[in-house]
Amino acid sequence: MSENIERVKCLIIGSGPAGYTAAIYAARANMKPVLYQGAQPGGQLTTTNEVENFPGYPEGITGPEMMIELQKQAERFEADIRDGWVTKVDFSGDVHKVWINDSKEIHCDTVIISTGASAKYLGLDSEQKYLKLGGGVSACAVCDGFFYRNQEVVLVGAGDSACEEAHYLSKLCKKVTMIVRRDEFRASKIMAARVINTPNIEILFNTETDEVLGDGQVVTGVRVFNNQTNEKHVIPATGFFVAIGHKPNTDVFKDFLDLDETGYVINVPGSTKTNVEGVFVSGDAADHVYRQAITAAGTGCMAALDAERYLAAKDSTFEVSTPSYN
Ligand code: NDP
Repeated sequence: MSENIERVKCLIIGSGPAGYTAAIYAARANMKPVLYQGAQPGGQLTTTNEVENFPGYPEGITGPEMMIELQKQAERFEADIRDGWVTKVDFSGDVHKVWINDSKEIHCDTVIISTGASAKYLGLDSEQKYLKLGGGVSACAVCDGFFYRNQEVVLVGAGDSACEEAHYLSKLCKKVTMIVRRDEFRASKIMAARVINTPNIEILFNTETDEVLGDGQVVTGVRVFNNQTNEKHVIPATGFFVAIGHKPNTDVFKDFLDLDETGYVINVPGSTKTNVEGVFVSGDAADHVYRQAITAAGTGCMAALDAERYLAAKDSTFEVSTPSYN
C-alpha cells in the first residue's frame, strides 16, 4: 500500500461545534481521532460576533474565541487536528476511504461527518462588507437578534425560516421589515399567517435589496427596490438579516450517503447513523431545523458515542494512526 495512505480508527470531518465535540469524546474514549478542519476552520461560528446562548459562558464569548477554546479542549486529549479539505470519499467497502486535498488517502474504520451547512447570502458587496466587519449583517436571528433589542431591522426571505426568524425578531425589536421578492410567501400558510398578524412586522412584497447602507462600520439602513415599478427607497435599520436558506456541505458524500432533496444527510432517527455502517453524521449537515451550536455539539457527542459502540461491536484490533501500512 502506498506510503501516503494512513489508517485511522476515527476520522472527523469538519471543525464546528459538532466536529470538536465529537473529537473531545472520541479522544477521551481512546479512539485517537483525526479531525480535518475544512475550508472554514471553526465553521459558521467564526462569522458570528458574540455568542450569548451557549451554556457555560455567563458573560458570552465571541464565536472565533469559542472555536479556539473547543479546539484547545480537543487537543488537550490529543485529538489530532489538521488543516485539510476532503475532496473525495469512497464508502463502498468495509474500510472507508477519504482523500484530503486530492492527494492524501486515509482509510478509516469510522467517519464522523460534521461538515455543517452554509447560510446563503445575497452576494451584494455591501452585504458581505458588513458581514465581515460584524457590523449588522447576520443569517441567524436566534444567534444575533438579541443585539438588536428595541431597534429596527430588515429581514430578507419568504420561506419558513424567514417567517420563523421574523417572528422571533419581532419579540425583541421595535420593528421588522420583511423583504419578499415575489408577491407571495414560500412559507407554509400557518407560518406566513403568523408574520402577517404580527403588528410590528411590515411585509414588502415584490421587493428586493439594492444595497445595505452603513457608516463604514455598522449598518444604518437598507435601500430596496420594487421589482414591478423599479421605485427605490431606504429603510432605516441597524440590522440586516438574511434568511434565504442554507446549503449543507455534503456534495462530496452524495454518491454514497442518503441525502434529502436539499442535500442534508438523512440519519437514522434517534441516532447519528447514516445508511453506511461506520459513517455517522452530526451537526448542521443533518439538521435543517435547530441549527444551533449547542445542538450541533450535542449531536457531535452522540456521533462519537455511536462510533465508539460501533467499533466495540466490531472488536477492531488494528493499530491506529500509523503513517503507512501494508
Ligand atoms: P426555503 O428554500 O424554503 O426558502 C427560501 C426563501 O428565500 C424563499 O422564499 C426564496 O424566495 C427566498 N430567496 C432565495 N433566494 C433569494 C434571493 N436571492 N433574494 C431574495 N429572496 C430569496 O428555505 P428555508 O430556509 O426557509 O426552509 C428550508 C426548509 O426547512 C423548508 O423545507 C422549510 O419548510 C423547512 N423549515 C421548517 C421550519 C418549521 O417547520 N418550523 C422552520 C424553518 C425551515 P422564493 O420564494 O421567491 O423562491
